[in-house]
Amino acid sequence: MLRKHVLLIIFIPLLSYGQNSKQKSGITPFNQIAENYVRLGLAIGQYDSDFVDAYYGPDSLKPVGVKEAIFPKDRLLNTTNILLEQLRPYIKDKSLGKRAIWIRGQLTAFSRRIKMFAGEPASFELQAKELFGVELPNLGEDHFRILLNQMDQLLPGRGDVNARFQTLANRFVIPREKLDTVIKTCIAESAKRTRKQVELPHSEEFRLEYVNGKPWSGYNWYQGNYKSLIQFNSDITALIDRVIDIASHEGYPGHHVYNTLFEKNLYHNKGWIEISLYPLFSPQSLIAEGSGNYGLEVAFPGEEKINFTKSVVLPLAGLDTTGIGAYYQALAIKGKLQHVRTEVTRRVINGTMNDDEAIRWLMNYGLFNKEDAVRSLSFSRKYQSYVINYTYGYDLVKNYIERNGGTSNNPSKRWELFKWLLSNEVTPADMQ
Ligand SMILES: [Zn+2]
Repeated sequence: MLRKHVLLIIFIPLLSYGQNSKQKSGITPFNQIAENYVRLGLAIGQYDSDFVDAYYGPDSLKPVGVKEAIFPKDRLLNTTNILLEQLRPYIKDKSLGKRAIWIRGQLTAFSRRIKMFAGEPASFELQAKELFGVELPNLGEDHFRILLNQMDQLLPGRGDVNARFQTLANRFVIPREKLDTVIKTCIAESAKRTRKQVELPHSEEFRLEYVNGKPWSGYNWYQGNYKSLIQFNSDITALIDRVIDIASHEGYPGHHVYNTLFEKNLYHNKGWIEISLYPLFSPQSLIAEGSGNYGLEVAFPGEEKINFTKSVVLPLAGLDTTGIGAYYQALAIKGKLQHVRTEVTRRVINGTMNDDEAIRWLMNYGLFNKEDAVRSLSFSRKYQSYVINYTYGYDLVKNYIERNGGTSNNPSKRWELFKWLLSNEVTPADMQ
């Protein structure tokens, strides 16, 4: 305790000196820029209802008065440019440089999203670069054909690969009446595993809700104060792997934990105001979705996922364990085929693929059933290039963690790197 006070006394004069000297030389104080970044994001959110995914900062930064009748594109773009200009002197600053670079990436995304919301078309590639800070390889049909061949050899029977995959998968659909129990059990298990490794605030908790008619399978609405509302789309076919995946993606150690650690470590402990706003279309989502998807492998490394499925989930759902080994092998290949979502989205946005062709690709190369293919396409239309956060974001997080020693043989190192990722302002460039 005493040590803390001593540090504070030394720290405050340094900080105020730093800010005064910047002010004298005509440079905007950093905290003012960070606050105005939040104000701008909330102002955009007044018009674009998908823009703000979460906000738990002070009410004083919320827009006052009624919004304008017409979307004020030019004014919002102008504010974005001013903030980008004000950040410039901080980019190479020793103590604030990382924050400045992080906010710069977020503001670049604001700029692109404002233009898109105003109806300006943007290619898939431009969106990926400016909204999420990445450039991705363009995968052609051959990439998927090779993986599909592997699937063909693995699945029992002959003929259409998708039909054979669905036959296998349909053995593992959780009956309606068991769904709630299974989901809650999966979340409880991933939470238990996460809490063993990550120190979470005692007050953290989530609420689970069932919804219909959404283009996604699950959603975490972070409410601030370490609380989440997790929504599960009950329209989806409740395959066992999906339910386990949603539990860790939306809950532990995925979005709920990511937002909780950000709020605790960066907003409350360090007082970084920019953290209080989570803008959906921003590089932050690449890390959030990538870590959300990779979270399952952190909580259930190696064989632990299949062991948990066999010993807990299947018996609870009243399902037979026969064929589960083959199913998980097939899922490993299907995981790699997920990139088809990216490629379909690329072509749909760029106007080189029509809806029928998109559904055909999703079913043939992604092994989606018809209803999931239709849902995936409507997701791409609504959220545009956002889908790359799941596919490319996952690759980025996985490669980063495993390259740095967080392999399935070293779960504690994996957790350590994962926690770092969930507690720092990391940009996509930091991980490449
Ligand atoms: Zn997500």
